Amino acid sequence: MTRLPCGCAAAHEFCCDGAPDSVRRALLAAPALLLARPAGAVEWRGSPAQGGMLVGRAAPGTRVALDGRNLRVGPAGDFVFGFGRDHGPHAMLRFIHPDGREDPRALAVLRREWNVQHITGLPPAQVTPDAAALRRIGAERERLGAARAADSALTHFTAPLAWPARGRISGVFGSQRVLNGQPRQPHYGLDVAGPVGTPVSAALGGRVTLSGDFFFFGELLVLDHGHGVNTLYAHLSERLVAEGEEVAQGQPIARMGATGRVTGPHLHFSLSWYQTWLDPQPLLPA
Ligand SMILES: [Zn+2]
Repeated sequence: MTRLPCGCAAAHEFCCDGAPDSVRRALLAAPALLLARPAGAVEWRGSPAQGGMLVGRAAPGTRVALDGRNLRVGPAGDFVFGFGRDHGPHAMLRFIHPDGREDPRALAVLRREWNVQHITGLPPAQVTPDAAALRRIGAERERLGAARAADSALTHFTAPLAWPARGRISGVFGSQRVLNGQPRQPHYGLDVAGPVGTPVSAALGGRVTLSGDFFFFGELLVLDHGHGVNTLYAHLSERLVAEGEEVAQGQPIARMGATGRVTGPHLHFSLSWYQTWLDPQPLLPA
C-alpha cells in the first residue's frame, strides 16, 4: 500500500460541524487522571483516547513501560506517551518503583469517531504522483521519519501546548481523506487557515530537527520537544529558523503559506510521539 504524507486543503466546511467540537468537549470533560499516592507517587494528565497524549511524572528512578515498551523517564521522573488514531481499546502502563515494586495500571482507550472529508479540485499530479515524484516523496518520507525518531532528553513536552497560529480551523485530526474521489491516508494534523504571511510560532520550546521544501507538505519545519514528542508546521511561505536552532515556546518560527498540496493558504500543524501521530486540538487552550 502506498502511504502518502498528509496533504492539506483549506476551506473545508466540515470543520464547522459539531463533531470535532463535541469530541473536544468530551475529552476536556473527562477527568484528568491525577493519582497521588503516599509512597511511589505517580501522576499524569491527559485522557487515554485515540489520538491522545498523556504527560506524567513518577518518583525519580521509577521505570515506566507501555505495553512492554520502556519509556524514557527524565531525571525528575517526567515521561510521556500517546495513542494513535486507530489504537485498540486496551493498554497496559507498568511502573517499576525504585524499591522494585511493580505497579501495573490497565488503561481503557476511548474510541473516537472520525469524519470523512472529500476534497475536490486538486491537480491530478498531486493526487496520483508520477514516478519521479514518488521517488522524491520516498526520500522525503525517510528524512521526515528520521526527524520524528528523535529521542532527546529535552523536557519541553511537560509544558501545555500553545496555539502555533491564529485563524479558522479548516481541518481536524483523523479525518478519512477522499481526494478527487480517491481514498487516501487520513489527515494527521490540525489545519488553521489564514492569510499568507500570518505569523507561525513554536507550540512548545524545542530544537529544530528538520527544515525543508517537501512535495506534499511544501515548506516545513519539525521541532523536537523531547522524549519523542515533536511538532510539524507545513505549507509555510517562509521559515525563520534553521536546523539545530533552539527555540522558545511562542517564538515566531515561520509564516503561513500555500506551498505543497493545498487549495488555499493555511498552516498544517501536527503533533507526534515518535512515529505515532497524535491530535493536538484537545491539548490546546480553548
Ligand atoms: Zn492539514
